[in-house]
Amino acid sequence: MKYRIYALHNYRQIPQIEKLSDEDRFNIEVVGTVLPFKTNSYVVDELIDWDNYKEDPIFILNFPQKNMLAEEDFNHMAKVLKSGADKATIKEEANKIREKLNPHPAGQLEYNVPEYDGVKLTGVQHKYNETMLFFPAQGQTCHAYCTFCFRWPQFTNMDEMKFAMKEIDYVIGYLKEHPEITDVLITGGDPMVMKGKIIDQYLTALVEANIPHLRNIRIGSKTLGFWPYRYLTDDDADMVLNAFKKVTDAGLSLAFMAHFNHYRELETEAVQQAIKKIRATGAQIRTQSPLLNHINAKPEIWSTMWQKQVQLGIIPYYMFIARDTGAQKYFGVSLADAWEIFQKAYTKVSGICRTVRGPSMSCTPGKVRIVGVTEVKGEKAFVLEFIQGRNSDWVARPFFAKYSNKALWMDDLQPAFNQEEFFFDQELSDMFLG
Ligand SMILES: *Cc1c(COP(=O)(O)O)cnc(C)c1O
Ligand code: SF4
Repeated sequence: MKYRIYALHNYRQIPQIEKLSDEDRFNIEVVGTVLPFKTNSYVVDELIDWDNYKEDPIFILNFPQKNMLAEEDFNHMAKVLKSGADKATIKEEANKIREKLNPHPAGQLEYNVPEYDGVKLTGVQHKYNETMLFFPAQGQTCHAYCTFCFRWPQFTNMDEMKFAMKEIDYVIGYLKEHPEITDVLITGGDPMVMKGKIIDQYLTALVEANIPHLRNIRIGSKTLGFWPYRYLTDDDADMVLNAFKKVTDAGLSLAFMAHFNHYRELETEAVQQAIKKIRATGAQIRTQSPLLNHINAKPEIWSTMWQKQVQLGIIPYYMFIARDTGAQKYFGVSLADAWEIFQKAYTKVSGICRTVRGPSMSCTPGKVRIVGVTEVKGEKAFVLEFIQGRNSDWVARPFFAKYSNKALWMDDLQPAFNQEEFFFDQELSDMFLG
């Protein structure tokens, strides 16, 4: 299949777009001016069910929807577009709306960027002891954009890749100085949009550095969902697969952290072939997805997705809660509903699917999982635990928050049982003041 990108300027060339009403097309243009919009020929031709586009999860995954913006913001942008404003004005008005959408949640820019040799490593985050994130500069885009993406400011040029670097030597230097790090997670955007030659360079450099404490290389990618031909027919498909094999041949584990939002993405011939190719390199594939209203907020979707993944030899890993940024009001599921959906899905599948962890929030103190809802002496509470913590000692200690059926995120929660604060609050604020 030929890779064709569609975005705001050319999406009307998508043959199936004729099925949309004029109003729906205009809505795409209004919202697509504020939030990122990009899709491609595979998503359009093989994944979306155009006869049912209004409810189609993959359509909603790529095409901006009216309700992703607050009504007043939508109306304002619609007016700006209809008035025939020039590009600069449109951009300025779009940025004003973007600023209201919490573009930098969970202190990502400020808190997690380390230094090596006196240099700030802008393309590295080291938040949890064992795992370092690397954002290669060439991998800061994706084959299509998810409408819910929490990295959306990067794709609207608000951030201009603040979060990226090319200098693998610095990454390796930093790794060598940090014996606690066992995992490097290469992420983006999507690092698999990089040319095969670059992927090979980075992976080879990591392998040849021969760092004794480095055990796992992980790659976070949505290519299996958005462009599986990356591993089948792209010119450099074999080069990529060979680079994976170099990692596993060297005795390191390669974990391909695949992002799937719906079981539909697992059903095409292309994705199933691509999965086989990746697994044949000795890499494992693990999966992650946020829980998203309008896309996958039903237990059956998750249980089916996990079952299909396991059948294809893939390991379910994370269910996330949608972050407090961008179109969260549209996609967000309350914590109470999230737990219920998780519990219903989890209890329907066999133990081999229950490797999944969640539902989990990636927030400033760590990854907080909702273990469940309980009642103690008449007070209803969420049971929570860290599955990752800024201090690893916080991990796996149950703690309690007042039950609320409205809470969408950690910030909406209060300690339960008359506690003044959560057990980690003091230490957390000391970390940032100290
Ligand atoms: C999730 C995450 C990791 C990896 O955590 P694991 O529990 O090892 O999967 C590492 N760094 C950051 C910043 C993360 O959000
Ligand atoms: S693939 Fe990942 S980084 Fe890219 S748009 Fe989707 S969620 Fe965002």
